Amino acid sequence: MPGDPDYYAILGVERGASPEEIKRAFRRLAKQFHPDTYKGDKAEAERKFRKVAEAYEVLSDPEKRAQYDRFGYVGPSPEADFGPRDFHRTRQAFEEFFGPSAFEEILNLFFGQGVSSRRPGRTQRGEDLEYRVGLSLEDAAFGTRLKVTIPRQVTCARCGGSGLTPGTGERTCATCRGTGQIEYRRSTVFGSFINVRVCPECQGVGKMPEAPCRACAGTGRARERSELEIQVPPGVDDGDRLRLAGQGNAGLAGGPPGDLYVVVEIQPHPLFARRGQDLWVEVPVHYGTLVLGGKIRVPTLKGEDELEIAAGTDPEEVLTLPGRGLPGGGRPGDLHIRLKVEIPKRLGRKERELLREFTESLPQPPPPRRPGLPA
Ligand SMILES: [Zn+2]
Ligand SMILES: [Zn+2]
Repeated sequence: MPGDPDYYAILGVERGASPEEIKRAFRRLAKQFHPDTYKGDKAEAERKFRKVAEAYEVLSDPEKRAQYDRFGYVGPSPEADFGPRDFHRTRQAFEEFFGPSAFEEILNLFFGQGVSSRRPGRTQRGEDLEYRVGLSLEDAAFGTRLKVTIPRQVTCARCGGSGLTPGTGERTCATCRGTGQIEYRRSTVFGSFINVRVCPECQGVGKMPEAPCRACAGTGRARERSELEIQVPPGVDDGDRLRLAGQGNAGLAGGPPGDLYVVVEIQPHPLFARRGQDLWVEVPVHYGTLVLGGKIRVPTLKGEDELEIAAGTDPEEVLTLPGRGLPGGGRPGDLHIRLKVEIPKRLGRKERELLREFTESLPQPPPPRRPGLPA
């Protein structure tokens, strides 16, 4: 009959299909609606699934199928209540395919959308934002003030964040009569369900703007590139997150703003290697300075220090300037100086003569010895 559902076409099988073929076709279709895999629009899936289940209920039952083959669609209209006792074949097939709770999952997916899982209304807290700043080791150590430009949502200047055209208010939502919910009975192959859903018009608020603000389309906020000053406290470390409360995106329709998180990335320093609060620097010196002793200049985070080298200092020796490392963490770290003997690659005739004379005047070096292994 025209307008009747064609159950064979819905399942994609021939009129003379065997019960096995019908079951296989249903299984293939049912898989598409499994809650774990289904990605598309839920309402659309629900509609399709209802048809497929309906077709399967009829065609998998020899008596109903014979009746359907002879008279076309009989019995309750597709929109009417099939009654829970009428979907036992679908349930059975489902649990056979996908396990004991599969049918309940389908029911929850399509018919169990409660009010509580929906967001409460138009007013929402603004999103938190994250902003990464690259800091020099000096700025991280001693603190700094940064000027940054951050794209974010700010309160709409026209409506002050309310989302309403100035001078207008809100009216009761006509769709839900102010309750924020819509209750309705739906009849499906699985029986009759009383559904309560969040009102799609007002999203559960129960009120609608008389006239949404034109500047922000009722959201109460607008995009802006905000210039901000960020105070970085001394002693921050790589990966530290500084929270600037209320500096994230403005809230929706007057909701509270989110927070801004500034994430610190400390850039590698050209001179200093770092371990914890301690710093390391390599300073080239002449052989003569180590032999005779003397003063060298050593770079520090704050500038330069003078370091006394004792006569007869070994080139492997590591000297330490206490407290010249990174501040913070209770006690400041130390600065370790690794001396590196610089071997001159090009000497003049006079220097060569002097060095030869000097070297020949020295006593022989001590014999070879067993070294300690490097750590
Ligand atoms: Zn506005
Ligand atoms: Zn409403």
